[in-house]
Amino acid sequence: MTDMTPRTDWTREEISALFDLPFADLMFEAQTVHRANHPRNEVQLSTLLSIKTGGCPEDCGYCSQSASADSGLKAEKLMDVRTVLQAAAQAKDNGSGRFCMGAAWRSPKDRDMPAIIEMVKGVRQMGMETCMTLGMLSEGQAKQLAEAGLDYYNHNIDTSPENYANVITTRTFEDRIETLEHVRSAGINVCCGGIVGMGETREDRIGFLHALGTMPHPESVPINALVPVKGTVLGDMLADTPLAKIDEIEFVRTVAVARIVMPQSMVRLSAGRESMSEACQALCFMAGANSIFTGDRLLTAPNAGDDKDSALFAKLGVVAMQAAPHGHLEEAAE
Ligand code: SF4
Repeated sequence: MTDMTPRTDWTREEISALFDLPFADLMFEAQTVHRANHPRNEVQLSTLLSIKTGGCPEDCGYCSQSASADSGLKAEKLMDVRTVLQAAAQAKDNGSGRFCMGAAWRSPKDRDMPAIIEMVKGVRQMGMETCMTLGMLSEGQAKQLAEAGLDYYNHNIDTSPENYANVITTRTFEDRIETLEHVRSAGINVCCGGIVGMGETREDRIGFLHALGTMPHPESVPINALVPVKGTVLGDMLADTPLAKIDEIEFVRTVAVARIVMPQSMVRLSAGRESMSEACQALCFMAGANSIFTGDRLLTAPNAGDDKDSALFAKLGVVAMQAAPHGHLEEAAE
């Protein structure tokens, strides 16, 4: 019998045992947990907009926006508030319940905060949930965002604590945890996940889900498959090797284990979806993924377009989850 109470005392051995289950047993357990905690056949749609692209001082090995990557991406200034709100209105028309805004910063400067706050307020007034990802936050900045009404803050742990320094050297895993604590204590929902297919081992994927499953569970858990971009450290390292794309069954297993370990979280299929077959995406939904990013671009990487998504949803009998009037889809799902 599956225990439906969210636990934060998972051991690595338990998570490893889930990964080792025969595939059909793992899928059955994940779907059972999913149906007990979420409306079935409903997938939440989020739209992501890059509000400040490129020139980031961090050196995340997977990212084309890092100033240390040789990806040809031009650094841009923070977008003006009006342009952001126009994009949000368009996303709403396309059925998105959540509008996520991302800036390529190590952390926001205090002089940027007034514009950021206006963006949060403006998007909220449209009746959409708001999410921001701006890098590390001080306690005071997290409070300011909470006061503006920000629903979610995205801050990924990316990978296992052991593998972290292989991917990023300009900050530590502990820095990430500190910002997550500021976000939580300010009362903002947490969106936190990571990337698989970075050449990590299964042990790292276990460690990654163990780290997420033993903190207060993030309300949203994005699971990305690396999109290797030429000019980035990982893109160049993995290109033309068997590790350039994660095995699809292993990716589905990761989604299923995330669903079981964090039963009430929204598990989001994020980057890498455009290179997945429809069958793989369908398996991810069966494994308990219930959120996707829509639109043609995901920050700077290509994404599966809206038309393709509607066609896939129709084939699968999946419908878009409706946003609750004042955010908190998770509460609406109960
Ligand atoms: S992932 Fe974010 S923090 Fe890292 S280099 Fe890219 S924009 Fe900067």
